[in-house]
Amino acid sequence: MYADIIVDITHEKLDRIFQYSIPSELEGELSVGTEVIVPFGKGNRETRGYVVSFSGKADYPAEKIKPVLKKAERSVAIESKLVALAAWMKEQYGGTMIQALKTVLPIKRKEPARVRRRVRLLLDLEDAKEKLKYYLDKNQKARARLLAGLIDQPEQDYELVTRKLNVTLTVIRSLEEQGVVSLESEETLRGSVHYRRHKEETLHFNEEQEMAVSRFWEDYRRRIYGTYLVYGVTGSGKTEVYMEMIRRVTGLGKQAIVLIPEIALTYQTVLRFYAHFGDRVSILNSRMSAGERYDQMERVKRGEVDVMIGPRSALFTPFQKLGLIVVDEEHESAYKSEQVPRYHARETAIARGKMEGASVVLGSATPSLEAFYRCRQGKGTLLTLTLRAAGQKLSKVYTVDMREELKKGNRSILSDRLKELMRDRLEHKQQIMLFLNRRGYAGFVSCRSCGYVVKCPHCDVSLSAHKGGRLVCHYCGYEERAKEACPSCGSKCIGGFRAGTQQIEDIVKREFAHARVLRMDMDTTKRKDGHEKILSAFSNGEADILVGTQMIVKGHDFPNVTLVGILAADMSLYSNDYRSGERTFELLVQAAGRAGRGCAKGEAVIQTYSPEHYSIRMAAQQDYEGFYEEEMRYRKLMGYPPVSDLLAVLMTGADEQHLELAAGYLKEFAVRADKQKSLQIIGPASPYVNKVNDEYRRVLYLKCQRKKTLTEIKDLLEQYIEINRGFDCIKIQFDFNPMGVF
Ligand code: ADP
Ligand code: ZN
Ligand code: ZN
Repeated sequence: MYADIIVDITHEKLDRIFQYSIPSELEGELSVGTEVIVPFGKGNRETRGYVVSFSGKADYPAEKIKPVLKKAERSVAIESKLVALAAWMKEQYGGTMIQALKTVLPIKRKEPARVRRRVRLLLDLEDAKEKLKYYLDKNQKARARLLAGLIDQPEQDYELVTRKLNVTLTVIRSLEEQGVVSLESEETLRGSVHYRRHKEETLHFNEEQEMAVSRFWEDYRRRIYGTYLVYGVTGSGKTEVYMEMIRRVTGLGKQAIVLIPEIALTYQTVLRFYAHFGDRVSILNSRMSAGERYDQMERVKRGEVDVMIGPRSALFTPFQKLGLIVVDEEHESAYKSEQVPRYHARETAIARGKMEGASVVLGSATPSLEAFYRCRQGKGTLLTLTLRAAGQKLSKVYTVDMREELKKGNRSILSDRLKELMRDRLEHKQQIMLFLNRRGYAGFVSCRSCGYVVKCPHCDVSLSAHKGGRLVCHYCGYEERAKEACPSCGSKCIGGFRAGTQQIEDIVKREFAHARVLRMDMDTTKRKDGHEKILSAFSNGEADILVGTQMIVKGHDFPNVTLVGILAADMSLYSNDYRSGERTFELLVQAAGRAGRGCAKGEAVIQTYSPEHYSIRMAAQQDYEGFYEEEMRYRKLMGYPPVSDLLAVLMTGADEQHLELAAGYLKEFAVRADKQKSLQIIGPASPYVNKVNDEYRRVLYLKCQRKKTLTEIKDLLEQYIEINRGFDCIKIQFDFNPMGVF
């Protein structure tokens, strides 16, 4: 046996794998991810390395291969843990070790540091105002300008101040002599946020919050590092609970990672963490440059950071003593990577927690089935918050059956109930959000008269309308001709739903001529900060109605919103994917939760063609557990995750015929490899988007109750693909428990 080892020298060299032989005393002792000591280079320097795979065959003459010396006793490099995590990811999600390593290791390119100067106000507000008056009286205009600017914002960039306020260095120096300002020059770390620490307000936890924290802490103190799910309604004070947990864990000298989906990573959230943890907090986001990220990682390694906040990739922060990982809004699909390895941050966080002895706290108002199922199986502890922290009630939700509206002769996109409530809110000067549910929309076909939806007889997901009047299933490839009339009621009103946000904006403007309307969708947020500008305009009361896609559902608190209208709730229900019921429930509950965050009570209207569907019924009742039970029944019946595991094999190639053939071979191989006959193999099918950039696409699905079997099959498929020249011109990726259809 030989071990393939990645030697932990300079990290640029990680791309190379070195083969070592395994001496008899180490046989059976090594596994993928084990840290070992090997002789390296000409002098056979003892060097650390990581086992990434094994092989039975020597790549060189056997006598030239050096042996592994021993297992490393104590890992020193922080990265070693991440290398082991990478090995786990490769194993679970497929792809190469190098791809996995590149995912977990921060970019190693060192960038020159930048020197930045800052001007800081040294006086408190009262004194500063007095001084300002003095300068104005004395007609010292430049000094007054500088001081007024700093009263506005007490700490500013030197370059900005001199340009924006048009003051010279001499002016700054003279104020510095008077003890009014200081000019600080430092080697700033890019990406650090400067802020003023707020006074920490004391907050009295309610009983549920108290319980959640103490349950977690009882375990933690006894060194039981587990997985917890904080299932708390919107506004129940989950974030406060996380912060208390973090405070305790960091109090032990350990560090914490907080994952927040980028879309919810708002300025307000960040400030809350700063208020608690000061500059021991660091933030990552996708807008940061490589240099900025690198600097933050350097701060981490120097031990200057206790809490790292960021999206998915922040999970790989190289902390020495990681004590806690929080995954907020754990149900978000953004936690799934779309690049190889297509890892899920929730599952990977749990794996990292296990490897490093850290607890993992998941949080959501609408937990993923995966997270809730985990608790039901006893692999996690459920911490429930049923009340809104500030005592507000949850919104009252109405369901409107749009088929009835049609019968009444109302062909508008707005139901009578919604219009009536909108008029009321406009009169009371309260705000309204209209949410068009377009998520996962991929051409499902339904009847406007009776709500009938055309589904695949084999997969129980909706069929998608393709060109040429074909309806296609994206799991199994089943196909039928588009219908002229509804098979259920005979109505001719059968077809796709095609209203956009712009259309809705127009309709609303026509219906409510005096209302001020803002629209937020892909078009209006294209420009930099477009997103934030619209949200802050709405927050400042510059509009009465905000119309938008799911973008408006997340992250922001608008205390003056007391009505949420959900248009076409069904749209996501029949996206051609097994998670559509879950996604719909989650969107509706989160959307309804946007209303009534302030003092006044909120209401929500769900407009739908299928009010009897459990996702919609349970969302209207805001009954998560009721939804969970129903949805799990469906997943069990159909063998979908989290009951079974689903492996998607995604294939792309320029030659469609060749691709078709190769996909067929791959399927045959999978059938043969499945010795126990425990797999269900579906497809290959063509996805909704059959061709991208002249590359055709096919997908094969493998379902199995045992995850291990699937990872084994994945390994076999990878080997088969590697040795078979026929797959050379085809790109193949694995996707475990995909979040949507390919
Ligand atoms: P979630 O993360 O569940 O949406 P937050 O932690 O953001 O909830 O809390 C919602 C609001 O309620 C915040 O303004 C928060 O400061 C406040 N809050 C949380 N817990 C309490 C409490 N025990 N007493 C008073 N206000 C609270
Ligand atoms: Zn019908
Ligand atoms: Zn099907």
